[in-house]
Parts: sequence; structure tokens; C-alpha cells
Amino acid sequence: METWQKNLKAAIIDPGELAALFPCDRESLSMVADRYPLRISPYYLSLIQEAGDPIWRQCVPDIRELREDGLHPDPLAEEYLSPVPCIIHRYPDRVVFLATTSCAVYCRFCMRKRKVGCSSTDVDREALEAAIRYVEETPAVRDVILSGGDPLLLSDDQLEYLLQRLRKIPHVEIIRIGTRVPVTLPERITSKLCRMLKFYHPLFINTHFNHPREVTPQSSLACSRLADAGIPLGNQTVLLKGVNDDPETMKSLMQRLLAIRVRPYYIHQMDLVKGTGHFRVEVKRGLEIMRGLRGYTSGLANPYYVIDAPGGKGKIPLLPDSACFQGDLLVMRNYLGETIEYPLS
Ligand SMILES: *Cc1c(COP(=O)(O)O)cnc(C)c1O
Ligand code: SF4
Repeated sequence: METWQKNLKAAIIDPGELAALFPCDRESLSMVADRYPLRISPYYLSLIQEAGDPIWRQCVPDIRELREDGLHPDPLAEEYLSPVPCIIHRYPDRVVFLATTSCAVYCRFCMRKRKVGCSSTDVDREALEAAIRYVEETPAVRDVILSGGDPLLLSDDQLEYLLQRLRKIPHVEIIRIGTRVPVTLPERITSKLCRMLKFYHPLFINTHFNHPREVTPQSSLACSRLADAGIPLGNQTVLLKGVNDDPETMKSLMQRLLAIRVRPYYIHQMDLVKGTGHFRVEVKRGLEIMRGLRGYTSGLANPYYVIDAPGGKGKIPLLPDSACFQGDLLVMRNYLGETIEYPLS
């Protein structure tokens, strides 16, 4: 067994263990964890400085998850857009491939909390083969996004099998992996893993940092190793109340990501997912945060702020400073709030 696998085995899954370490209510922890599983890797646990801090909020069950919030378990209609159980096919040329339902930490705000961590929805061999077959038989698919759960919780052999099968498909041009492992279980990014991944280029990885405190020597090393293997790294952040919903925190996160060679790709407005309502930030606030980035720091530190439209209608980017047409002029606003007129032709 590799070190990361041993460490994963030592993860906290029992509310009692957590209650022994921090002042919190064991009863309500258990109630929530019975519905939405608890798992915190030893490394991620070590980042918690005190109960209620931004790391804690992301991983410790909160009684508000059980509140009747009027939200839907699957607002993006992923199940409806699923031709076979492990594939979500929403856009013409790319699919999401759900390779597992396990993660190193179960994020409380997860948009797939309806299924992550549940053994009843785990991916078996048959489902995996059916998903590969779907990609093989669908020539329009040129981009496969491995997701889950966390695909990097598969063993090196399982992952290589999947990559090999996908690489053999002539119409699959690029493969992407969406993973939070560099943030939650950085020791999983071994030199051996990176040597293997190199064989399957063009391969892209999008990781998922939400707070500047997640950028540590360990997560930096994980990202370095991946970047050194020639893998372009992007980051998808979720805008979370009490975690990163202010301009300074977000700017610092974006800047720190660039310093470890990770290019900010998306900031996601929280999806309207049942059990996550207490993390929602107003769209107006989201736009204010974006306003704090544009012009004030590197363009590379400016991701798209997107809303994933309900009903599987797709991701829609929002811009804070927009332009409007006036006669034969385009009237624009810059980052300082100044108005600039520009000829239309
Ligand atoms: C986000 C997403 C994608 C990928 O979108 P990009 O904008 O290409 O990164 C593909 N399919 C589904 C279902 C998605 O939710
Ligand atoms: S790592 Fe991703 S899939 Fe897993 S619980 Fe967190 S947000 Fe959900």
C-alpha cells in the first residue's frame, strides 16, 4: 500500500473522533454525517487552526445541511443528461466522465452531494466499461473530463487503464482531470503518478483551491510535480460564504495560485443544491469580488465568474463592468469606474 493510501485510511470518518479534537456538538455532527458522509484526510485536518475557520467550514458537517432549504438535489439535471450512468453529456463536443464517487475530503458544499461518498452509487467495473463504450461510440466527443468524486483516488493502475482506453479512441483529442487531491491529499501526487500521466498527453488538470491557506508547501509541491510533467494546471474555485466571499481573500488566492503555476479558470457561483444553501453568496457580491480583480492584478489572475444555469442549460460567464451601445458609439467602463467612448467602426 502506498503512503497516500495509508493516510487515506487514517482519515476521520467518525464524528466522535472530531468531537474529541475540537469543541463541537457530536450529536448534530452525527445526524448530518448519517445523511451526507464525513471524511477529512489527516493532511486537511492539519490545516484547521480553530473550529469555524475557513478550512473547518469546508469539511465539517453543519446542521444547516439538513434544513429544508427548498433546493433540489440535482438542479443541473445531470441525471437527465446522463446517457449511461457515469457519463454526463450536456455540450456537443465534451462529456463529464464520473470515474468514482470517493474523495479524500467530503466538501460540505459539493454540487454532487447527492451521490459522493455513497457506496450505493459507486462506480463498478460494468458501469465503467459502459461509459468507455459510450465515448467510443460517440464521435462528437473530443474532450473527456474525468470527474467524480475524485479520479485521483483511483489507484495508479486503475487510472492508467482508463487513460489507456480513452487514448486509444481516435476522436478523443484531449483528456482533462478534475481533482481536489492536490489540496486535500497532496501526498497522492507522487513522482510515480506523474511519470505515468506524462504518457497520456494532451492532458489537462483542473484543481480546486478555495482559500489562500490551502496553498501550502505540500500543495505547492504537488502542483509543481504536475506542472513539471507538462500538465497545464487550472483552478476552479467555488464562491463560498464565510470562506472566500471577500475581494482581498479572493485576490490573494488567485495570486498565490499563479505563484504555484496554477491558472485560475473559473469562480463558480454556488449551484442551487439541496443541503448547501448556507454557503450561498449573493450574485451582486460575486460581481464586486470580480471587480476587485480586473485591472487591480494580473489578467492571468482573472478567471471567469460563471453561473451553471439550472436545468443543465450550461455555464454562463458574468462580467462586472459591461459596455453598452449608444448611437455609433460603444460606451465602456474601465476598472476605475471611468467612462470611455469607443467608435463602433
Ligand atoms: C462544466 C462542464 C463541462 C465543461 O465545461 P467547460 O466550460 O468546457 O470547462 C462539461 N460538461 C458538463 C456537464 C459540465 O458541467
Ligand atoms: S472533492 Fe469535489 S467531488 Fe469531492 S466532495 Fe469535494 S467538491 Fe465534491
